[in-house]
Amino acid sequence: MKLYDIGDTIQGRDIWAIRMTQGARGRPLGSRPAVLYQGTTHAREWISTEVSMRLLEWFLAERRAENPEVVEILETSELWFVPVVNPDGYEFTFTDERLWRKNLRDNDANGDITNADGVDPNRNYPEHWNYDVEGSSSVISSETYRGAEEASEPENQANIDLVEDMADFRFAISYHSFGQLLLYPQGWQTLTMTADDPIYLALTGTDDDPAVADFNPGVGADLYTTNGEFTDWAHGEAGVLAWTPELSQGCEPAPDCDFGFEFPDDEDLVQTEFERNLDFALNVAKSATDPDDPASHVGLDTANLYLNIASLDPWKTNWTQADLRVDVSYAGGSSQPVEVLAKRAVENVTLHYRINGDAAQTDAASESPSGDVYGGNNAYNVYYHYLRGEIPDLEVGDSVEYWFTSGGAATDAVEEYADAGLSNSGTNIFRWTLDGFWIYNLDTKMPPGVQMYINNCYRLDAYVQDATLNKVKISESPYAIFKPVK
Ligand SMILES: [Zn+2]
Repeated sequence: MKLYDIGDTIQGRDIWAIRMTQGARGRPLGSRPAVLYQGTTHAREWISTEVSMRLLEWFLAERRAENPEVVEILETSELWFVPVVNPDGYEFTFTDERLWRKNLRDNDANGDITNADGVDPNRNYPEHWNYDVEGSSSVISSETYRGAEEASEPENQANIDLVEDMADFRFAISYHSFGQLLLYPQGWQTLTMTADDPIYLALTGTDDDPAVADFNPGVGADLYTTNGEFTDWAHGEAGVLAWTPELSQGCEPAPDCDFGFEFPDDEDLVQTEFERNLDFALNVAKSATDPDDPASHVGLDTANLYLNIASLDPWKTNWTQADLRVDVSYAGGSSQPVEVLAKRAVENVTLHYRINGDAAQTDAASESPSGDVYGGNNAYNVYYHYLRGEIPDLEVGDSVEYWFTSGGAATDAVEEYADAGLSNSGTNIFRWTLDGFWIYNLDTKMPPGVQMYINNCYRLDAYVQDATLNKVKISESPYAIFKPVK
């Protein structure tokens, strides 16, 4: 084990990180894959520091007891712990205000820490920082004040330097409280999974079978949207898959449970909370050496190819990046692109298709173009990416079967669709293409799904059709009402 001072807070306190790996003292930084555990980004969430510290102590004790699983982890990987990300705020919760959340930035420079002060360290990271006013605030007294500029806070800078420069991080868990949730990216807009979702799913589980008992797993923005937040930054900018567990209050499931951030100072309850979270933390540690084939507590393996990840996680039903199946095409007289979510480690992904029962043909799938990215960064694709193939020469009325294979192995997925022909009347309001979607008949009533689709088209170019039936990029269209103005 080795202790590192990774930076100073606004008030000059040291921020400490502990590195645990076999032979840490003599070993160069970054020479083994690493996992980061951290607590108390938000000052009042004391249980998060307790869980991080107990995790550190558990690994140490099990190493000493020569638990083979732990010996293996520490001989092949590094575990890093930052038990207090926000030491100024943490201290302040002991001396002044138990429920203080932010750091101690003196926003109004009056020399005193009051309700006008503090930056929310979990809204200050340089990823979708200041994207909208729902996911963070520009009001200095707000609990989610994002700071004057991205990464303006020394506590954030210390964490950024740690993640980017000090180790080869693969995963990070940033403990918070409260809510009994296991949140993972993306957080900045709703209904948006990452390409690496199969790994999150395997490690985190689903609503019916979560990796932490009684916790509810899911994409962060399903709870509330955040921008400038740690896990989005870690994954989207640093390539480190990351979670925010929202720990318990210490009184669940009692119906009148309302301890909130004040987890009881009770040894049994604290230990129970730690133990409840141990398996998940351990599986993440075990997975550092092979992130795209993680140790799953819930028995989920990561597949090479996915056409519809919602079949594993029904919560993501109808999400545009989850369900890639093309059921109906309007490509009559032209061709239809189709996509698959594929593990990067798998080569030779091939599209197979059969038109009207004729002999199957193939097309080599290649990386999907990212389009005009709506809302910014789409680099949440460290281990998986979207691949695309093209089915040519379609006529109205054709019946098509298609599937993908990888590495010449057996069929991974089969779907069918019928070519319904282009129509811009009646109920055919959408024309989905993989470069975007069309909205027809804007003078008629919009269907209820429109707002969702537009919110959720970051990977795609979105188009509307104007009054003269020209295709207009939605970002340039007069229909600003359909943009996600928050
Ligand atoms: Zn928090």
